[in-house]
Amino acid sequence: MNSNTKEIGKIGLYEDDSDAIENAIEVDNLTVYYQRVCALSNVSLRVKDREFLGIIGPNGGGKSTLLKAILGLVTPYSGDIRIFGKSPKKAHGIMGYVPQFTSFHRDFPISVEETVLMGRLSGKIPMFHKYTKEDIDITHTLMEKLEIYHLRNRQIGQLSGGQFQRALIARALTTRPRILLLDEPTASLDTEAKSHIYSILVELNQDMTIIMVTHDMGAISTHVESLACLNRELFYHGRSELSEDLINAIHGCPVDIIAHGTIPHRVLREHHGNGGTSHD
Ligand code: ADP
Ligand code: MG
Repeated sequence: MNSNTKEIGKIGLYEDDSDAIENAIEVDNLTVYYQRVCALSNVSLRVKDREFLGIIGPNGGGKSTLLKAILGLVTPYSGDIRIFGKSPKKAHGIMGYVPQFTSFHRDFPISVEETVLMGRLSGKIPMFHKYTKEDIDITHTLMEKLEIYHLRNRQIGQLSGGQFQRALIARALTTRPRILLLDEPTASLDTEAKSHIYSILVELNQDMTIIMVTHDMGAISTHVESLACLNRELFYHGRSELSEDLINAIHGCPVDIIAHGTIPHRVLREHHGNGGTSHD
């Protein structure tokens, strides 16, 4: 951002000077520990505005931790994270988050509509919050868009996996975010439910940055624009690297092996040196 833009921002011509920033997310030398476990080591990453980034890697590789760090939900040991130039805490409202399926108790006695509406709370306590007409209008519009409006009175435990994921996406969108972070949104869904989710994401990607953790290689070949392999350290592969050969090589290979870049074969560019910061 040049100094002119800042000046204009200050006198209020721009309501939000984040429009002037090309990168949606900038992560520099991020290290995260849980007690003595190092979950992320010196991770650097640039995600452009409206990029669709896939993140793959072995279980325990730090994928969920990276999303949580971007969201400001875990505190880094060191490093810096900027979301359209702001700290994660300040940028909280411009990010929508679809957590890993397994982190939900679906037997909780709550309806689909209530689940989606809760996205409007952003940290407030539901018991003491009265939803406004705007909250309800936004929720209904999103439920229609995601084809779950007719299910609004059902208890969330009575939804199929795909319907439930769509409810979680609707919930994440209620704050009208500019960035959507999804943690394995298609795990355990059948092919039809998966392609429904991807068609939604592709449409959302028209005016939103998307980061999706996935084990679904089919999605990477078809929908994802760039790829990060994360196994405590991160290696970024831009659009030009996602060639047909590479995608073919990824197909049918266990993700764990690919992400490590070790035996039995290495399909991605060698993971030496500065994988994380360059773009393409
Ligand atoms: P992934 O999503 O790639 O499976 P995670 O980010 O969940 O990986 O975990 C990365 C590492 O951090 C793992 O070793 C995991 O056991 C550890 N970890 C994750 N969350 C916690 C936590 N809340 N407390 C302690 N260790 C954790
Ligand atoms: Mg995870």
